[in-house]
Amino acid sequence: MTKLTPGDRVAVLLPLPLSGPLDYLAGDAPSLTPGTFVRVPLGNRTVTGVVWGPAADPQPNLKCRPIKESLPLPPVPDASRRFIDWVASYCLAAPGAVLKMAMSVPKALEPEKPPPPRLVAADPQPGGFALTKARSRVLECAWVPQTAADLARTAGVGASVIKGMVAAGALCEIEAGEIEAGPQPDPHHPGPVLSPEQQAAAQELRGQIGAGFAVTLLEGVTGSGKTEVYFEAIAEALAAGKQALVLLPEIALSAQWLERFERRFGVAPTVWHSDLSEGQRRRHWRAVARGHAKVVVGARSALFLPFPSLGLVVVDEEHDSSYKQEEGVCYHARDMAVVRGHLGGLPIVLASATPSLEMAANVETGRYRKLVLPSRHGGASLPEVTLVDLRKDPPPRQQWISPPLHKAVEECLAAGEQALLFLNRRGYAPLTLCRGCGFRLQCPQCTAWLVEHKAGGRLQCHHCGYYARKPEQCPNCQAEHSFTSCGPGVERVAEEAAMLFPDARIAIMASDLLPGPKAAAELVEKMARREIDLLIGTQIVAKGHHFPLLTLVGVIDGDLGLAGGDLRAAERTFQLLSQVSGRAGRAEHPGRVLLQTYQTEAKVMQALAKGDTEGFARAEADDRRVGGWPPFGRLAALIVSGEDSAMVEKAAQQLARIAPRDAAIELLGPAPAPLALLRGRHRRRLLLKAAKQTNLQAYIRHWLGSIDLPRQIRVQVDIDPYSFM
Ligand code: ADP
Ligand code: ZN
Repeated sequence: MTKLTPGDRVAVLLPLPLSGPLDYLAGDAPSLTPGTFVRVPLGNRTVTGVVWGPAADPQPNLKCRPIKESLPLPPVPDASRRFIDWVASYCLAAPGAVLKMAMSVPKALEPEKPPPPRLVAADPQPGGFALTKARSRVLECAWVPQTAADLARTAGVGASVIKGMVAAGALCEIEAGEIEAGPQPDPHHPGPVLSPEQQAAAQELRGQIGAGFAVTLLEGVTGSGKTEVYFEAIAEALAAGKQALVLLPEIALSAQWLERFERRFGVAPTVWHSDLSEGQRRRHWRAVARGHAKVVVGARSALFLPFPSLGLVVVDEEHDSSYKQEEGVCYHARDMAVVRGHLGGLPIVLASATPSLEMAANVETGRYRKLVLPSRHGGASLPEVTLVDLRKDPPPRQQWISPPLHKAVEECLAAGEQALLFLNRRGYAPLTLCRGCGFRLQCPQCTAWLVEHKAGGRLQCHHCGYYARKPEQCPNCQAEHSFTSCGPGVERVAEEAAMLFPDARIAIMASDLLPGPKAAAELVEKMARREIDLLIGTQIVAKGHHFPLLTLVGVIDGDLGLAGGDLRAAERTFQLLSQVSGRAGRAEHPGRVLLQTYQTEAKVMQALAKGDTEGFARAEADDRRVGGWPPFGRLAALIVSGEDSAMVEKAAQQLARIAPRDAAIELLGPAPAPLALLRGRHRRRLLLKAAKQTNLQAYIRHWLGSIDLPRQIRVQVDIDPYSFM
C-alpha cells in the first residue's frame, strides 16, 4: 500500500451512484492510506467515503475541498477495493453503488462508545479503611474485574457502597481497552469420523488453504456429507489464522446448519443477513472488519464485508437462484465469490447435489476441479421417485392430491412415519375469478393475478406487496358473491389434507406464514421431534433440513416451474425437485417420492424418476450448446422502464435503432417484459445474445453512452440475467 503524504490530493469514493471517485485535499490527516474511511464535504452535507487512491486529476491549481477527518477504523482491504471496482465494471454499476453494499451499516462507522470502566480490588488496600460487612462482600467479589453495576449486583450491595469504596481507593479502575473478540471457533474441536470418501475430499480441500486461487466443485447427492467435508476446509483456514466465509441461500432459516457448526467448532459463527437487528449488524460488521469474526455465514451481501484476512469462501447450494440479485446492482453472488477468490488469491468451494450447467461447463474445460461424494452417509439410500400421471390418475374435482398419493400418505402415516407435501406456491389460490363474467382479479400496479391468502384474509400481489380484501361484488358485472378460487396454493392443499387425513398433525411451512427466523427454527424443530406428521411447504422446506423420520415426499405440481418458457426452467425444476426429494429417507428408513405431473414423458421428469443427474445435465447442455445459450454463449438484458407507457416504448425503440452493428451480437426485442407492468412502471426488455468471448460490457457502455434518454426513463442493465420477468 502506498502512503499518501499530507497536502496530497486523493480520490475518495462515496457510497453514491456517481460515475467515479471525487478528488479531495488530504489536508494534514496523518496517514491516508488507500482504504481509509474519511468524512468529506459534498455540497452542504458531510458524507463518509473511502480513500480510493491518488487523485484522478493531480493538477495542483484545480480547486478542491479538504477532507474533514479520517475515521479510526481499519482501512478497507486492498482485495475488497479491487473487488468493488471489478463488480462495478462487470455489472455496469456505479462503483459508489457497490461501495454502498460494503458499507451497508452506516452506524458501524461511527465512533464507538467506550465500554464502562471495570473495577477491581486495590492491592494493597488503603490504610485506615473501615471494613463493613457490605464492603467485605464487595471485596470478595472484586478479584474479577467488572463494572460498578455488575459488582453491586453480584455482591448484593447498593451503588453508593461501590462509590464510597472507589473514593476511598479500595476499588480501582482498570483499562478496559478494546472490547474483546469473545470465544472463537476451535478448529481442533473434535468432529465426526469421516468416511474414506469424505476423508479424501476433505484432505484435498485442506491442502488448498493458503495455496492460492482455486475453484472446486464439491458434488454429492443430498445427505452425502458435503457440509461435514467443507467444515474441514474451514478448520484448516482457522488453524492458519484466516477468516472463512460461507454463503447459504436461506441463512435466516438455517437454524439446523448453525447448530451443526456449533457442534463442530464449539461456538456459533457470525451471521450476516437482513433479519439482523441494527445493533447486531453494527457489531458483526465491526467484528469482520477488525478480523475478530473468524467464520461468517451469510446471504449474498456478505461477500462485500471488508474481510482483512479472508482465506476461504464456500458457496453452499451453488445452483440456487437466490444468489442472483436482480435489483440495484445486478450480480450473481456465486460468480462474484469466484472473482473475490481470484482477487484475494484464495480457494473457493462450490457445493451442490445438482450443479448448475455453468459450473459443470467450467469443470469440463478444466478451469474448475471437481470432487465427488458418490453416496449418502451411513448407507442411507436415495429415495425412489415414482411419477404419477395426472392424466391417468386425476384427483377428484377441486382437489389436488391424486389417489396414488393419497394412498401413499395414508400408508406412511399408518407406519408412524412423516410425510411432506411440496407445492411451490404460497397462499390459498393463485387466481380468483368471477363465475358470472370470467373477470379476474389483477394487481393494479403489476401484470399479475392477485393471490388469495386465507390465513391473512386478503388477496395479495406477489410482486409488489399490494393487497386488498376480496370484493363482495364483481367490479365488472356487479354480481354478488360470485368470486371463486382457482388452483391450489399450500394453504388450500393443507385444507384438503386436513379433510383426507383427519388424525394427522398438519403444519404449513411458507415464508409468509413464518414471522421470522425464530418461528422457522421452531417449526423445523417440531418436525425433527416428530410433533408434526404431515408438513406442507413451499421451496423453503427444500433447503438443507434433515428430518430423520421423513420418508415420503409428494410433489403436488411438478410442472409448476416449467411454464413460462424461461431458459433455465427445466434445469431449475430438476434442481428444486431433486432437492425436495432429497428430504426423504435420510436416515435408516428408506424414502420414496411421488411426483405428480401431466408431462411424464418430459426429459426432466424422466431424469428425476431415474435419478440421472448427469444424463439430464448432458442433454440440457447439448440443447443449449446448439442454440448458443448460456453457458455456451452470453446474455445481457436491458430493462427500459418508466411510468408513461408511450415514452417507454419510444425509448426502447430508439435504443434498438441506434444499437451498434456487431456480427457477434444479436439483439432481441424490444418486447414487453413478461411483467410488462411492475410496481406501476411499464417495462420493455431488450436482450443481447453473444458468443462466449464477446466483451458485452464494452459494447453496452459504448451503446448507452451514445444516447440521452429522458430523465423519467430508467435503463437497468442485467449481465447474465437469470430471471426473464
Ligand atoms: P449434504 O450437505 O451433502 O446434504 P450433510 O453434510 O448435511 O450432507 O450430511 C447429511 C447427514 O449425515 C447430516 O446429518 C450429517 O451430520 C450426517 N453425516 C455426514 N457425514 C457424517 C459422518 N462422517 N459421520 C457422522 N454423521 C455424518
Ligand atoms: Zn403488484
